[in-house]
Amino acid sequence: MKYISTRGQAPALNFEEVLLAGLASDGGLYVPEELPKFSKEEIASWAGLSYADLAKKIIAPFVADTIPQQDLNAIIDDTYSTAGGDRVFAHDAVAPLKQLDANLWVLELFHGPTLAFKDFALQLLGRLLDYVLEKRGEKVVIMGATSGDTGSAAIEGCRRCDNVDIFILHPHNRVSDVQRKQMTTIMGDNIHNIAIEGNFDDCQQMVKESFADQSFLGGRKLVAVNSINWARIMAQIVYYFHASLSLGGPHREISCSVPTGNFGDIFAGYLAKGMGLPIKQLVVATNCNDILHRCISNNDYSKQELVHTLSPSMDIMVSSNFERLLFDLHDRDGAQISDLMERLNNEAVSLDEKRLVKARELFDSYAVDDEACCQVIADMFERTEELLDPHTAIGVKAAQEQRWDAETPMVALATAHPVKFPDPVVKAGCKAPDLPHHLEDLFDRPERYEVLPKDLAAVQAFVSKHIS
Ligand SMILES: *Cc1c(COP(=O)(O)O)cnc(C)c1O
Repeated sequence: MKYISTRGQAPALNFEEVLLAGLASDGGLYVPEELPKFSKEEIASWAGLSYADLAKKIIAPFVADTIPQQDLNAIIDDTYSTAGGDRVFAHDAVAPLKQLDANLWVLELFHGPTLAFKDFALQLLGRLLDYVLEKRGEKVVIMGATSGDTGSAAIEGCRRCDNVDIFILHPHNRVSDVQRKQMTTIMGDNIHNIAIEGNFDDCQQMVKESFADQSFLGGRKLVAVNSINWARIMAQIVYYFHASLSLGGPHREISCSVPTGNFGDIFAGYLAKGMGLPIKQLVVATNCNDILHRCISNNDYSKQELVHTLSPSMDIMVSSNFERLLFDLHDRDGAQISDLMERLNNEAVSLDEKRLVKARELFDSYAVDDEACCQVIADMFERTEELLDPHTAIGVKAAQEQRWDAETPMVALATAHPVKFPDPVVKAGCKAPDLPHHLEDLFDRPERYEVLPKDLAAVQAFVSKHIS
């Protein structure tokens, strides 16, 4: 399988190279040259497979020419198998479905070590990196910015990789206590948390600039752990198949509603559909940072000021993975995407009629403000005693508002455990939940992190000093 850049100028890479890359050299994002396609009969034959065995079927075509099947299977078993004591995901179903209402379900993606769906991708990514770097005899540096969930999931996923030094930047005093503790209590010589005296965008900007000029690393290469990394998207395709098969697919369609920030998670759903999974609706659920909802509903793809909401993991101005969809909408013409992304920096951009119609065939969208979000948490708790985290609540609300029919099972993706975000839960009048078993002593564990000013030179000096 070859991967090509959305901007058409960078060289095509294989899976291993894409895994180790950040942005493509032309500024684009890598996508598979061609999607693997599965027939209905083939998908149907996977009914009843464990999550790990299903993952093998779906991931193999993306990876197989760079990692031997047997080794890949072992990596996937190590990540998703629930047999044995060392399991990563706490629930036997890995991604269980829970019914909230007549034909409305939540897909619980928060049974991994950091209690958010990002574990699904980053646990696999860490193991793939470890395997590939060991084989190549290389060491790399991971630098990532986080508003909370990515950082802990990346650290948990890569903590055992001897060939990776990991530096995670978070905005000082602007992540929740649980989120910070989940990052800063993991001890390891290769793990470094940096609290930046600034906001998330400042962190992101410094990471971006470090990728652009890596000379401060003394020859080491930077690897990306945000969802511009193709391997993350790939891993997320699996749970759409898993949900469908659990609800009578592929002989019956399902619809999915996805709490969306960077457009990585829902893009994986779009790919699942492209690979042959019968998905009727894909609903883009946003908070007040609603560029995607404005684009789909009103053809207004313009940047607006960032708003801090009760669902911080979806607080973004522009969704980087949307570029991957735009590439398809523009018949994979990299020159057009280059031009469009350039213009987006300076002006409001809209799609032409043909592309807009196509986008609307593929996606519905809905934006949910903080008040409505708390209302959903309160309502659902009262009716079902299910406590939703604020991101999930936005997905549930969008599902209720946007579903076309009552017959098709609607699956809202539950992207985080409510314990990570107690404020909105309490605002909704519910009692904040207890930490799950494996994190019970989280608040007693010692923390380690470095506070640094919003200064690129200081951050890069810290990184280069601490590379192993
Ligand atoms: C990262 C995150 C999201 C957004 O996912 P994208 O792939 O960026 O669209 C939603 N909810 C939670 C809890 C997250 O951590």
